[in-house]
Amino acid sequence: MSIPEPDSCRLCGATENQTLRAPHVFGGEGTHQFWECAQCSAVYLFPIPSQEDEDRFYREEFEKFMSSRAGTERDWENAENHIKTNQDQVVRRWRYLEPFVEEGKSLLEIGCSTGFMMDAFRDAGMESVGIEPSGEFLDFLQQRDHKAYETLEDLQTAEHEARFDLIVHFFVFEHIRDPFAFLREQYELLKPGGAIVAEIPCVSDPLTEVYNIPAFEKFYWSIAHHYYYSKQSMEYVMDRLGYDYELLPEQRYDISNHFTWMMDGKPGGQGRFSNLISQETLDSYRKDLMDSFTCDTVILVVRK
Ligand SMILES: [Zn+2]
Repeated sequence: MSIPEPDSCRLCGATENQTLRAPHVFGGEGTHQFWECAQCSAVYLFPIPSQEDEDRFYREEFEKFMSSRAGTERDWENAENHIKTNQDQVVRRWRYLEPFVEEGKSLLEIGCSTGFMMDAFRDAGMESVGIEPSGEFLDFLQQRDHKAYETLEDLQTAEHEARFDLIVHFFVFEHIRDPFAFLREQYELLKPGGAIVAEIPCVSDPLTEVYNIPAFEKFYWSIAHHYYYSKQSMEYVMDRLGYDYELLPEQRYDISNHFTWMMDGKPGGQGRFSNLISQETLDSYRKDLMDSFTCDTVILVVRK
């Protein structure tokens, strides 16, 4: 089978120096690969899946696909468990979200899944609305009295004048085919003085960029992602949009998770060696990764 090669970068359009970054794509067909652009540093999926295939994937396969990737800590099969097993994410995210949270202000979360983040915003007194394309999660959100729509278009049709103080999304941006249109639409929905805060996987994750673990390489690159961003390629996107923004390093996975990948070639293992490894060591390792931006996550903050 011949593998098709891109003529140009999907993000910046550069035609030179497009190199193969990842030959194996989790959930992909044999021809899907991730390519890297030397110009803007974007890593992108090629060939580009058709819109039809992508729509069917989110409609029919996404939750099962995520379950097959989640390891043991995150439960995608059952909505109640999904909320419980993600409470550590709420705690972690709240550290950087807190300055943006204010009682009575309005919040929009795009891709809110079971609403475990929306619960926290609601508890803090924010008027929250979610967007969730999965029918199963959408029903669940409505049962729990969260206001949620299937698409942003549905929200705009139902609430023509809706504008928000805070718009958030967590691990959504990398799934988006057109990152520029996606952020422009959100910027339009922001009130003056409002902010967008997003969490995005960072391709400078040490598991791929430094340790180069074969099992991780087979796992990390996902058919559900159009792009893997670094600090540099995020700067390219944001500079082109011309908004006031900030990029912050974040490290979600701890040293025990990294050891587990090296030892067992499997996801999971967060906290596994906590009897041996002190909090001080954990914090210090995390800080080293973040200080060098060799970390698994980038936080985007846009201010209007
Ligand atoms: Zn490029």
